[in-house]
Amino acid sequence: MLFACAMTAQCDCGRDLDPVPLLGAILFLVLLKLTQFAAKRRGGVNRMKSSAKIAIVVALGILVVAVVALKPSKGPAAPMSSDPATTGAGQTSQQAGELPRLLDLGRGQCIPCKMMMPVLDGLKKDFTGKLEVEYIDIGEQPEMATVHGVLTIPTQIFFAPDGKELFRHEGYYPREDILAKWKELGYDFVAAQAAAPAQLNSIVREEPAARDARPPETICTLCEQTIDPKTKVTVDAPWGKALLCGVHCYAIYYSSLRDNSAVAGKVAVTDWATGNAVPIEKAAFLYGFEKGGRPLIRAFETDSAAGTEAAKSQGQVMRWDDVLKKEMATRCGFCDRIVYPEDASRVVTAEGLQMCGCCPMCALGIAARLSKDIEVEQKDALTGDTVSLKTSGFKVVSLEPPTAVAWHGQRKGKDGKMASAGCFHQFFFTSEKNLLKWLEQHPEESGKMISIQQALDDKMKLNPQQISNACKIGECK
Ligand SMILES: [Zn+2]
Ligand SMILES: [Zn+2]
Repeated sequence: MLFACAMTAQCDCGRDLDPVPLLGAILFLVLLKLTQFAAKRRGGVNRMKSSAKIAIVVALGILVVAVVALKPSKGPAAPMSSDPATTGAGQTSQQAGELPRLLDLGRGQCIPCKMMMPVLDGLKKDFTGKLEVEYIDIGEQPEMATVHGVLTIPTQIFFAPDGKELFRHEGYYPREDILAKWKELGYDFVAAQAAAPAQLNSIVREEPAARDARPPETICTLCEQTIDPKTKVTVDAPWGKALLCGVHCYAIYYSSLRDNSAVAGKVAVTDWATGNAVPIEKAAFLYGFEKGGRPLIRAFETDSAAGTEAAKSQGQVMRWDDVLKKEMATRCGFCDRIVYPEDASRVVTAEGLQMCGCCPMCALGIAARLSKDIEVEQKDALTGDTVSLKTSGFKVVSLEPPTAVAWHGQRKGKDGKMASAGCFHQFFFTSEKNLLKWLEQHPEESGKMISIQQALDDKMKLNPQQISNACKIGECK
């Protein structure tokens, strides 16, 4: 309740902040003293006729009234950046003609003023180079309240790049409302950020920073994780051998085949207890769950071995057909590969249809495949924080946080050209900073940072043929 009240509270600290009468009085006294001093030099105050004194006092009085009358009042304030030469000390260093500017005038102690601080910091951080954000404490610079005609604190003033005041608001002003107002004024920072071609510093890594030193037979063909010999699956496909780290990766592989009869009788799993290779159709599987909710699947040569393990771990014993059915429960809305919901991008179409993307790029691809606008939720690959976006007319119209970027994992092909490195190498990050940190931890990855709008545009360019071929194994080797 307290918080709700504070949200709407208008601070009344402003009542004692109009310094104009005080300034006027000081100016009056200073000018009077100067006049007296000048008069002395000219022959002494005593020789001044009292009528002349009265005339000077009246003239000074008029001057003070004029100064007070000229103070900017309720109307548009004199833009701070329009004429730095005449606007005085304590002014912004920004020159006219640069960026739109948000100026917040507040004072340390007032609650809504304090509440504005994280809002201002966030805007400053997220829209660097697009929006100038400035805070003035009128306790420290009382003259600025006069310059801007501030009656209540906090007051937020929106300035165009040319310094013209566009709008002002009094009281606490939440971030979403500020961004919505800027949008209404013609400055759509969120969309601009989403569309910005990889922002200011592009991050590109054409070659991995370090070579993968692992022996090739220990690397999963699909996800490139190191294969645990106890869970290895081998596929002796007509187009080449595949080594997979486990049954789940094999199921993904299987779901990526246009003709899966080509691998019938050519797949072997590993008995978890003995290490023996067993044809997948003959194996018995323990099907249980890991702590996080993902399935835990282990293969055995015999039902009794699987049963012994199942008794220990509360799992079920299943044949491959049933395991596959379970694995097939969730598929990528773009490429049809299977994906566990825990690992998927969550996608909702404009009609409210819920779907999964097996990677963030596939999630965006759903818009292209269905030709429908979408909402996407995807985890930051470094921190697990959520990146969410919404499209309209296939443009990203909302992106949270607005600093989010995409990493398009690519590899240099034999022709020297960069091409997609596949679903396991596509990521979103809430910020460039997170991406850079993640790149440090993954020297083996190559590719480039792109904006999320760019990632969506890349998918929207695909033709139906390309969409139906997406991620298919054995076709685009
Ligand atoms: Zn794998
Ligand atoms: Zn996919």
